[in-house]
Amino acid sequence: MSVTQDATELSKPAVCGSQPRRLTRTVAVRWGDTVVKVGGGQPVRVQSMTNTDTEDAIGTAIQVKALALAGSEKVRITVNTPAAAAAVPAIREQLDRMGVSVPLVGDFHYNGHKLLSQYPDCAQALSKYRINPGNVGSGSKRDDNFAQMIEIACKFQKPVRIGVNWGSLDQSLLARMMDVNAQRAQPWDAQALMREALVTSAIENAQRAESLGLGSDQIILSAKVSSVQDLITVYRELARRCDYPLHLGLTEAGMGSKGIVASTAALAVLLQEGIGDTIRVSLTPEPGGDRTREVVVAQEILQTMGLRAFAPLVVACPGCGRTTSTVFQELADKIQRYLRERMPQWKGVYPGVETMQVAVMGCVVNGPGESKHANIGISLPGSGEAPVAPVFVDGERSVTLKGERIAEEFQAIVDDYVQRRYGVALPASVE
Ligand code: SF4
Repeated sequence: MSVTQDATELSKPAVCGSQPRRLTRTVAVRWGDTVVKVGGGQPVRVQSMTNTDTEDAIGTAIQVKALALAGSEKVRITVNTPAAAAAVPAIREQLDRMGVSVPLVGDFHYNGHKLLSQYPDCAQALSKYRINPGNVGSGSKRDDNFAQMIEIACKFQKPVRIGVNWGSLDQSLLARMMDVNAQRAQPWDAQALMREALVTSAIENAQRAESLGLGSDQIILSAKVSSVQDLITVYRELARRCDYPLHLGLTEAGMGSKGIVASTAALAVLLQEGIGDTIRVSLTPEPGGDRTREVVVAQEILQTMGLRAFAPLVVACPGCGRTTSTVFQELADKIQRYLRERMPQWKGVYPGVETMQVAVMGCVVNGPGESKHANIGISLPGSGEAPVAPVFVDGERSVTLKGERIAEEFQAIVDDYVQRRYGVALPASVE
């Protein structure tokens, strides 16, 4: 049994590694030799979702590859039509041919029971199913459809995310809870009722999945809402009442800075409390925007909180009236992009490089000090300062750059540092 029945006692977060995390079961999401473990003290996982038409197998495989290369550890694809279900094995095969072993998660609504039954190759090619219990049918069909999907998950040994969403809450459960609420001496308000309905729906459906034979170590829960305060309250309650791993995400977070700020505000509070085993940042892409942005933002949330490291971070000052040129902004942007682009190659040969810090500062006020705290730092000249840029390596002043090629020379210094500091010496016999 994975549900804490006593709703009065607060559970304390367990200490896993150096981070206090809520202790949960561990769910393994597999494809081939790739195993992504979620929960149980494992690092908080980053996932994402495609926005291509799944029926377009090649286009979807290309976007999945881009998301995986950006660092997404699982990628969800919608499986909404027979043609989409038929395309899933082709997407998987295409990814395997490209050497991309990221697990694929199928997102099902309304007809998932039919698609998973009628397309067994799809059921097999997916590594996990996401089931929204509010969208599996109504009346007596609802239970049958849900059971059918769980039975297929059991047959193919696939984990399931029971993914509740306030925009598609199970109406029969809500009606039942409203009846109970009406009998209370002091009925709850609509917001409290909605929050409790989300938690109840997730937990009751997980219990039902277990009663149908799905292992408790095959279940992840989520209960997404679009309000930061609702999300925090709902997940605290879920964390208190069960020990399934939790997938965090603010649904419909929005575009641009609004989406990033709202997601960060909600996720940071919960992650700091040890709640959350896998995250997604649901950004609305700008027209023509890059889908991988949601992966980068999720990674940066985890890295800036000190929970994981993905790519070297660039510390840059905001600039002010002491520096009127854009040189340091351009250099900070260029070096951040360069470091990210190099990571797919570097991470295999330079272990630990993802923890490196690079400082790019705009003037002498904080430049040398901040640069000394970083692995490598450069302090560019502010207005009225001599046109030279001292570089600091491991806290010591190294060289002074000047002229038109400061950016290129600084990049070469970074490359050299990475090789010396993180390169693993080859045995003499293979040198
Ligand atoms: S380091 Fe210099 S340029 Fe940057 S914010 Fe501070 S005073 Fe301004």
